[in-house]
Amino acid sequence: MLAIILLLPLWVMSQGNYPVDAFRAPLDIPLVLAGTFGELRSNHFHSGIDIKTQQRQGLPVYAIGDGTVTRIKISHWGYGKALYIAHPNGYTSVYAHLQKFSPEIESYVKKIQYDKKSFEIEVFPDYGELKVQKDSIVAYSGNTGGSSGPHLHFEIRSSISEKPTNPLLYGLEVRDATNPSFQALYAYPLSPNAIVNQSSKKIQIPFSRQQDGSFLAEEVTAIGTIGFGIAAFDRQDLAANQNGLYAIEQKVNGKMYTEIDFENFSFAETRYINTLIDYPHFAKYRRRIQRCYKVNGNELSIYKSLYNDGKVNIQEGLSYQVEIQIKDLHGNVSTLVIPVQGKTEPVVNSEENIRTENYVVASKPNNFDLGLAKVYFPANTFYEDFYIDLKKGEDTVTIHNSSIPAHKNFTLTFDASKYSERELKQAFIARLDKKRRPDYVKTYKRGTTFTTRTRNLGTYTISLDTVAPKIRPKNFKEKQWLSNYRYLSLYIADDLSGINTYQAKLNGKWILMEYEPKTKTLTYNFDDRILDKKQCELEVVVTDNVGNSTTFTSSFYRN
Ligand SMILES: [Zn+2]
Repeated sequence: MLAIILLLPLWVMSQGNYPVDAFRAPLDIPLVLAGTFGELRSNHFHSGIDIKTQQRQGLPVYAIGDGTVTRIKISHWGYGKALYIAHPNGYTSVYAHLQKFSPEIESYVKKIQYDKKSFEIEVFPDYGELKVQKDSIVAYSGNTGGSSGPHLHFEIRSSISEKPTNPLLYGLEVRDATNPSFQALYAYPLSPNAIVNQSSKKIQIPFSRQQDGSFLAEEVTAIGTIGFGIAAFDRQDLAANQNGLYAIEQKVNGKMYTEIDFENFSFAETRYINTLIDYPHFAKYRRRIQRCYKVNGNELSIYKSLYNDGKVNIQEGLSYQVEIQIKDLHGNVSTLVIPVQGKTEPVVNSEENIRTENYVVASKPNNFDLGLAKVYFPANTFYEDFYIDLKKGEDTVTIHNSSIPAHKNFTLTFDASKYSERELKQAFIARLDKKRRPDYVKTYKRGTTFTTRTRNLGTYTISLDTVAPKIRPKNFKEKQWLSNYRYLSLYIADDLSGINTYQAKLNGKWILMEYEPKTKTLTYNFDDRILDKKQCELEVVVTDNVGNSTTFTSSFYRN
């Protein structure tokens, strides 16, 4: 009996039977999308939709159905202020980058923040403790966390599996009569002797738009096992945003080879996006080519069907018609036809095989000693075996380059024995960015041994941060009357290792300062009512990632 109850929602999901009338939209403006579900992002697929909020913050956000708040999370990055509501039909709605919550939820959150003395919190209210009704305002839209402009990030997850599902499957209205667009087509020789257009390495294939709106590629000559990749996007009607596709299909001579769709996926698999896209191409050109074939190490569940891993075997003298279709969720389709002739031709464009002294076998753990630092890759850090390029400089070690994605963290251990006792405190492991500026990476220190765990290949060094953070009032001055002020706001910044902690007190009592790293601002809201006398002493302490600390004090008056 129990098994049946547990299985039912999964069965419903696999059938694609999403409740189309159960939920309302989370905003009461027409839904215009800045991002779609499954869209290709850095190291992940987008797990919701991004709804534009007319370049404004503070739009009311509505509960899409009756439910109970099951999780509230506030973080400097990521989702910023985020709210999770579980609904009785087995789905959980998620609202992120919020400016603030509704008064009831806001006071619940504030109490916890004051109890824990922390702006960043994560709470899981008891079931039924914070009930919400459909159509009630639960929050206001914002731009908090890793958001680069005001919008609402909205998700619908299965409450049991926590799998994010495509929110547009629930009948939300988005105007879309616009077809998806192809930007680029690439052919990949895959077997050892494969050739495409006289090339043994990846080659771009030109195509053009036909009168009927479909696309036709220039004829390809090839031999051996080949694959195709596309750069493409979808657009809706009311904005120019280049959003992600819903589905991709690849047929060869009418037979389905590849069928991908973004109905749902799991957070556990999302990083395998780096096997779907041509990662070295992305690292170099910042454009994501989606492969229509499956490579080693790809464990994505987004394939509805797959024949021969989506790879096409081309034989001498035969002709093939490869057809790639891209789709959005509203039934708009674009088709690209690629005629292929099986023909052996001389190779004029060949892969330069770069061999180095060191080889990584992906399935095994790998250790390398570079003197100044040691690097340890656990088994399956990488998807493929490769020749790794390791370099030691005077003060740096270079671990290959960013063209290869790591699926897991690897460990980098530095010998910092050349530093004095004082310098050891100020020192940290840094990754050099493209302009060779040091970026702090979380550094664990044990004596003169510094360790970090990271997924980023590149150049690392030890840097010293000798300068304490800066603190400056933004909207008030010493000894000022602030009776009409609603907020206190301060600017805080650190030049190198970055801000680790911040703390503020009014007349000796801890106050909640909301930190917005994007604007380097700390904000105290006088509505929190901490004050008990006219004269106020403010103390703000900010510490950077190596422990340099600055204390700012100021006094003001308030009635
Ligand atoms: Zn988003």
